[in-house]
Amino acid sequence: MSEPVILAVDDDTHVLAAVRRDLKTRYQTEYRVLAAASGESALDTVRELKTRGDALALIISDQRMPGMLGVDLLAKCRDFYPVAKRVLLTAYSDIKAAVRAINEVHLDHYLEKPWDPPEEHLYPAMDDLLGAWQAEYRPEVEGLRVVGHPWSPRSHAIKDFLGSNLIPYRWLETGRDPDARLLMDAAHVAASELPALFLENGVVLRDPETQSLAAHLGLVHEAAYDLYDLIIVGAGPAGLAAAVYGASEGIRTLLLDGRGPGGQAGSSSKIENYLGFPYGVSGSELTRRAVTQAQRLGAEFLTPVEVAGVSVEGGYKRLSLRDGRQMLARAVIAATGMTYREHPAEGIASRTGAGVYYGAAVTEANSCRGRRVVVIGGGNSAGQGAVYLSRFASEIHVVVRREGVSETMSHYLAEQLAQIPNIRIHPRTVLECVDGEGRLERVWLRSLESDSLAAENADALFVFIGTRPHSDWLPSAVIRNEKGFVLTGRDLFLSQEFTRVWKEKREPLPLETSVAGLFAAGDVRAGAMNRVASAVGEGAMSVKLVSDYLART
Ligand SMILES: Cc1cc2nc3c(=O)[nH]c(=O)nc-3n(C[C@H](O)[C@H](O)[C@H](O)COP(=O)(O)OP(=O)(O)OC[C@H]3O[C@@H](n4cnc5c(N)ncnc54)[C@H](O)[C@@H]3O)c2cc1C
Repeated sequence: MSEPVILAVDDDTHVLAAVRRDLKTRYQTEYRVLAAASGESALDTVRELKTRGDALALIISDQRMPGMLGVDLLAKCRDFYPVAKRVLLTAYSDIKAAVRAINEVHLDHYLEKPWDPPEEHLYPAMDDLLGAWQAEYRPEVEGLRVVGHPWSPRSHAIKDFLGSNLIPYRWLETGRDPDARLLMDAAHVAASELPALFLENGVVLRDPETQSLAAHLGLVHEAAYDLYDLIIVGAGPAGLAAAVYGASEGIRTLLLDGRGPGGQAGSSSKIENYLGFPYGVSGSELTRRAVTQAQRLGAEFLTPVEVAGVSVEGGYKRLSLRDGRQMLARAVIAATGMTYREHPAEGIASRTGAGVYYGAAVTEANSCRGRRVVVIGGGNSAGQGAVYLSRFASEIHVVVRREGVSETMSHYLAEQLAQIPNIRIHPRTVLECVDGEGRLERVWLRSLESDSLAAENADALFVFIGTRPHSDWLPSAVIRNEKGFVLTGRDLFLSQEFTRVWKEKREPLPLETSVAGLFAAGDVRAGAMNRVASAVGEGAMSVKLVSDYLART
């Protein structure tokens, strides 16, 4: 397959030659740099690339061109290449239009003319964008391929596992992708053996268990030491930050996750409010960077490793894993976050994974191509999910109990939703039940205004409401609030159980639980802010407190 393409577009031949030259200088070993002198000819090039099955990584276009504005061209390109990065080349006077375009056409970056020296003004931004594209892009034919039935819970579980472990794959749906049948015939895979994974080395896995899949993919599963200074349970933003700081402080640190790194943030299509990423960053990209950083600094990371319990033996914490193994640490950070609670609507449970999904918008987006989708929830995660899915689905119906989304969603997201033509918001509405033959086919929505019940056809339903902390694995001596979130530091004084449980002569440290040496950070903690930045902050802070604790013991 030929290299992915970077396409530069400008009607000014001097500027076009300059941008092409600068891009070639840095990127021509990995990318083909093409040029087009108008919006129309750029669109022809994009169509041709698509027909040939070539990849478009990035398009950089001038804003003011006769016949077609840069923003219009970039918006049109999205139909052909939804994950290609889009950059607008602007004069100083057009910057307002460029900033507007960030929301309107989901622009990834704007570049002011002139961009000299390119080492300072062009390459850092391009490096970031191309790195993010590489992480998101799925090659057309090469690499790992997953063949499965649509609306199959097993297929969803495999895709979810691959996605959360940042393993690129191509999803081939039976009945939709001709390649699916070709691969099955070639390897004699029966329909009853799906989902099947076709690895690059020729190995075919038929409906594999997670552990066997992890072993084939080379994910690390065995710890290097018998005892760690610090074991962090959960590799979401809080756990990843703790691992980075633990390792950088010279603490022997092990990070474990039952699923893969990233946590809830990993399922986010675009985090726009995390410091230092003015154009947003996808959850998978942020995770990829954080895992690399933690490992480079010396933290060990094992996945999939689910912790089932912890017991305290002298000063040590013994962690029992779901697979029966045990691990020993002097201190533990619980960074296990939370997840969506099962929606109570009738018919949901039996269709989970078969059209009904919790979060998971990024994992299932491809399966929603040209289909009708319902999103439940009015928070930021629901908004992000709807915006992302709108690039794939034909229609998105966002169902919210309140009058609208303005009270519950960030302003920028609410504005994006309002501008996307295939998104419709159903205010003052609740989901009552779902039905369908073996998978989701219809949702029943009740209007809280008229009390009427209406059926809507739906191929997929994404639930983004109701949360449940992952705190069941903690010992009973860890005091939690009525919803199961873990109390830490001075909040523990409010609990009547505290004096019965806490036997130390000192007060608990700020993020310490009611068990000395067992800390909690991020969304699993009562009073957490439920933001990436606050989880990262608590993860970093907990390591300082662990250091203090270790120094005392
Ligand atoms: C779709 C979506 C979009 C979001 N967008 C934004 C945004 O734009 N901006 C923002 O600031 N916030 C956003 N959030 C919120 C943000 O992602 C969370 O606040 C943040 O991820 C919390 O981090 P955490 O590390 O505490 O927990 P989590 O991210 O929940 O991670 C917990 C990890 O622990 C693991 N785990 C759980 N139990 C065990 C166990 N027993 N053994 C081993 N591992 C275990 C899980 O597999 C998971 O990986 C979003 C959330 C969602 C769901």
